[in-house]
Amino acid sequence: SSFSEHLSPVPLDAVYSLKEGFSAVNSESKLILGSGVYRDEELQPWVLPSVKKADEIVARSQGSDRFEYLPIRGYSPFYTAARDLLFGSLGLKENRTVSVHTVAGTGANSLGARFLKETISPSAVWVPDPTWVNHHNIWSLAGVEVKTLSRMRLNPERGDVIVLHACAHNPTGVDPTKEQWRMIASLCESKGLFPFFDCAYLGFASGDPDAEAWAIRYFASRDTLEFAIVQSFSKNMGLYGERVGALHFLAATADVALTIKGHLSRLQRGNISQPTTRGAMIATTILKSPDLYREWLLDLKKVSTRIRNMRKLMYDELIRLKTPGSWEHLRTQIGMFSYTGLTADQVATIRTDSHIYLLESGRINVAGLNIKNAAYMARAMDAAVR
Ligand code: PMP
Repeated sequence: SSFSEHLSPVPLDAVYSLKEGFSAVNSESKLILGSGVYRDEELQPWVLPSVKKADEIVARSQGSDRFEYLPIRGYSPFYTAARDLLFGSLGLKENRTVSVHTVAGTGANSLGARFLKETISPSAVWVPDPTWVNHHNIWSLAGVEVKTLSRMRLNPERGDVIVLHACAHNPTGVDPTKEQWRMIASLCESKGLFPFFDCAYLGFASGDPDAEAWAIRYFASRDTLEFAIVQSFSKNMGLYGERVGALHFLAATADVALTIKGHLSRLQRGNISQPTTRGAMIATTILKSPDLYREWLLDLKKVSTRIRNMRKLMYDELIRLKTPGSWEHLRTQIGMFSYTGLTADQVATIRTDSHIYLLESGRINVAGLNIKNAAYMARAMDAAVR
């Protein structure tokens, strides 16, 4: 007998099971548009040229201390540079911000969730519908009830948390307008909600991190809200496996910030003791060198331009084919993901007939397309919706 006998099996995560199905298929034309990793025009992983250079600089500069432990809150040049990237010239609020270097965006989400469960003990966390699937998992693990935000139903209690995608919403690629952000901020104030920004794609949608940090800076500039920000460099620096991220809190006063700092350190100590070094040093090298920073912006521009071009190729082919339905959203959504609007049945048809693997929700990773196959994808969609 086993202690674990009573456990029921857990289905494989949708993105990972898609990969398994894809690997098993033998077809020249097969294509996968599942997980959120950027691919270049050859559909290969892309090491950003700015990252490659920074990596070499880090390698040259590290000495015999390179495998030493970092402090509990991580590499301080990293989390301060990361924070400055978010706040820009608003960085003045330094003594009211607390930053922790985390195990990428996932680690920042879970550290933040755990901390808020302990401190404000929300009756619920409100997440967008749909949202990154792991939000549900992470907040449930922290012991907070997850409720979904929808236009029809928002009846939070004071002290509830609201998860907001700072830019390039995953999976829909649709962000609030500035006017809507102002309304959301007012709502948080009047209802006493705690905003929890998840910022996993800064700069990815347009190549301009300053423009994409607008919502965060706006919330900070109102000076009436305390909030948290999760920041990931997995996508915008392509540092996926290096696990580079940060969690920031903007507190009402410097005293509160200091206390939060102590508690985050305590939780971090229990969770991971300290984060990893190398990727954070690479990110810091880019953020602190004006030349590399400029080069990184060019890399981001290249990414966002390629993604936009693929959106257009797909869209143009659907229009050429006079595919039933409206497809404007494919062009106007921003970021790496597109919510196609395909139904689960249509997704299954596309998989069987054209060997294109996308998530049942109809979300595709546009970076999985290139000049050779974008029109093929559009033709597969055309066949499936007719
Ligand atoms: N938040 C969102 C919205 C994401 O899409 C992702 C990555 N898919 C993450 C956080 C976390 O990514 P990572 O842990 O690799 O930084």
